Amino acid sequence: MIPNDSFEYCHDLLDDKPQEACGVFGIFAPNEDVAKLTYFGLFALQHRGQESAGIAAFDRGQVHCHKGMGLVSQVFNEDILAELVGTHAIGHNRYSTTGSSHLRNAQPAVVDTRIGKFALAHNGNLVNTPELRAHLDELGCDFGMTSDSEAIALGIGVELDRDKDKSWEDAIQAALNYCKGAFSLTIATPDAVYGVRDPNGVRPLVLGQLERGGYVFASESCGLDIIGAKYVRDVKPGEIVRLDADGVHSMTWKEADPKLCVFEMIYFARPDSANHQESLYSYRVRIGHVLARESPADVDLIVGVPDSGIPAAIGFSRESKISYAEGLIKNRYVGRTFIQPTQSMRETGIRMKLNPLKDVLDGKRVLIVDDSIVRGTTSRKLVKAIRDAGATEVHMRVSSPPVTHPCFYGIDTDTQDQLIAATKTVEEIGEQIGVDSLAYLSWEGMLAATNQNPDHFCSACFTGHYPVTVPEMLKRSKLVLEETPTAGQVSS
Ligand code: SF4
Repeated sequence: MIPNDSFEYCHDLLDDKPQEACGVFGIFAPNEDVAKLTYFGLFALQHRGQESAGIAAFDRGQVHCHKGMGLVSQVFNEDILAELVGTHAIGHNRYSTTGSSHLRNAQPAVVDTRIGKFALAHNGNLVNTPELRAHLDELGCDFGMTSDSEAIALGIGVELDRDKDKSWEDAIQAALNYCKGAFSLTIATPDAVYGVRDPNGVRPLVLGQLERGGYVFASESCGLDIIGAKYVRDVKPGEIVRLDADGVHSMTWKEADPKLCVFEMIYFARPDSANHQESLYSYRVRIGHVLARESPADVDLIVGVPDSGIPAAIGFSRESKISYAEGLIKNRYVGRTFIQPTQSMRETGIRMKLNPLKDVLDGKRVLIVDDSIVRGTTSRKLVKAIRDAGATEVHMRVSSPPVTHPCFYGIDTDTQDQLIAATKTVEEIGEQIGVDSLAYLSWEGMLAATNQNPDHFCSACFTGHYPVTVPEMLKRSKLVLEETPTAGQVSS
């Protein structure tokens, strides 16, 4: 039995960052080993969730489903995958945001209906789960899981069962009309795989094509690359795309009001995933250029905090013409350890994850670039470690604006009082983490660097302007510093 507190401790120690909420995958390719391709798709999307993984494959109306706790590579092996035969499949990597971390909450969720079973995988977070559950309770639904994803799946099942004329599409649309919040879904039915995005498209979902025939959905384009699928396009906000034996079919179920999570651009998505035909690596280098123009510094060396701070550090270095060096080496296997470090290790906990290179940093005025500061606990340890390695000055630049508000759309952030920028000024934060100077990327700079319409992004964790109305009860659970409601903080 794994003690929960040790998990929490190590989680805290290693990840003073917002946590990603899930990765989804779907494939319709009757001539392929769909389970194995789903496995590799999930493998590429592992960064989006490490608590559980699952695959449901469909074979002439039969569903073969396997789920387990842990990484994709721990949950599946060749023998298990060989059992998951079918013409099409969906898969899921989970990081729990609603519902605790138990096998019963692992996805895909499989639901039985009058016209057969279906499976559903969800990335995102609903903001009206209690309301939705109350609605389903009234209709006599049994809940086996505790997640919002189950509520969506049961909603579809109920819609199908209570009206014999309803098709899969009708039932999906009817159920989604009750859902508020962020959801990118893959749904497998006996004959098809569906990809769905909420009208704001808060979480990404892309469509790809296999050269040998067949189509694929993945949360990010890196999930297509790994299996040799060509990127076709994004699933649009408010769109339902159906993959079946006749190809690809699109329908609009809600008018789009795009609000992609800008944190996907800055930090969550893999740098080799693309947005608008450009890798996120290139976007992150560009925000480094912007950051250098906005907040220059007289230093000897630019160092990126691995991994996600590195592209912005390279951009900062190029713009400022100051040398870039790898001054921090990441333990790539640190992952999730369930063994509690010793007390002395706790005090120097950062070195479990990052080790400074003394001969690179010694005697230098160093500027470190990180992608975000959430609580500040890791940053303080990191700065101390760099000073201990001999740096004469330590400056920090952050390639995102200050995080002042929690996320309700599928990213696991602390309550507002735990977010250092919600209670302290930039100067106070600099003092607390012990740097000689601190500056953040401006909100305008972050959005301008996307080269897209700035209105097409959610940036609520930097502004408090939530694009999907957050119910009072849910707001109170995380927005502990706010007088709620306040005009202008929430818009629908
Ligand atoms: S609140 Fe922040 S983390 Fe959440 S969806 Fe919006 S931009 Fe992303």
